[in-house]
Amino acid sequence: MAFAFKAASEGFMRIPSFACEVRYLNKAISRSSLKALLQKTVDHDRRAMARLMSVTENDPYARIKILAALYKHTGRAYIVGITGPPGAGKSTLIAELAKHYRQKGYSIGIVAVDPTSQLTGGALLGDRIRMGDLASDTKVFIRSMATRGRVGGIAHATEDVVRILDAASTDYIFVETVGAGQSDVDIKAIAQTIVVVTAPGLGDEIQALKAGIMEIGDIFVVNKSDREDPDSAVQEIRSMLTLSEPTEGWRPRVLKTSALSGEGMSTLVETITQHAHHLKQTHKQETDSLKARREIVDAAKRYFEDITLRELISTPEFAELASLVERRKIDPYTAARRVLQSIRTRK
Ligand code: GDP
Repeated sequence: MAFAFKAASEGFMRIPSFACEVRYLNKAISRSSLKALLQKTVDHDRRAMARLMSVTENDPYARIKILAALYKHTGRAYIVGITGPPGAGKSTLIAELAKHYRQKGYSIGIVAVDPTSQLTGGALLGDRIRMGDLASDTKVFIRSMATRGRVGGIAHATEDVVRILDAASTDYIFVETVGAGQSDVDIKAIAQTIVVVTAPGLGDEIQALKAGIMEIGDIFVVNKSDREDPDSAVQEIRSMLTLSEPTEGWRPRVLKTSALSGEGMSTLVETITQHAHHLKQTHKQETDSLKARREIVDAAKRYFEDITLRELISTPEFAELASLVERRKIDPYTAARRVLQSIRTRK
């Protein structure tokens, strides 16, 4: 809020009216080039996809237009969330999975969400190098995302990137997040199948799995099974899973893999397919309806934050309310209620 106010008031200083502010924000991308970008994205043009993702990140006005225009092209991709502690081998595993699906002729999107990279700086580059041989494949699109500097936060930015990939006829999208509560991305809301990755010797991390991601995993993978005895980790996960009820008839599977040697990878691919079939068979109308509701609520929140509130902040009425709060004549909640009331009375 403080940031939004600062940004809007800076814009207001330069450009006095809201109409001008819209033009200012959209100056980076004209209507005709946006239209061309949308068309090229639907045709899976990688450069257009990357450009559209950047525009979406930086321009809230264009973002709404982009997501609205692309919506009818979405809903076809299969989205797999890959989560787990750092170092478990998620990136390596995704690179291997991507190779498997590429051999079957599918196009791939990889979205790596890295909440720590703002501190380490080098992690994003590391991901790219490890996925190096995939990066030159025109049917593989890789996007690394850092938390820093995102309008609307990493969760929204991740969903936007996934939607753009989906609209661009990407068959499989892998979203990598750091699990155990360290990521603010609600991977369950984005992905159809969630793979939780861990590795032998990460004892503490397996304990940490209990704190949240045990419930969301459809498939548990004990990676690095080439290195140490993976069976005790498998046993530990199995015993934790016996405590939970199967979700919609699916009992989570526990697999062993070695992303380095490729062992167990075909079984993982098969299990993802089994889970996808299971979802298709048990898919209820209800689930679609709930998803649609969530999407509308999300869109409403974003519309409010990105458009409505920005517009209101630049009005003299808002400045007046701010001055009242500043002098402690009214409290911020009363001011907020007045702001909301003013929306209702606007034409
Ligand atoms: P992430 O942080 O979960 O994405 O993990 P990475 O994919 O970056 O892997 C961390 C380290 O483990 C890297 O040095 C990988 O080469 C290594 N690694 C990944 N998978 C395996 C595996 O199956 N076996 C072994 N021995 N090492 C692996």
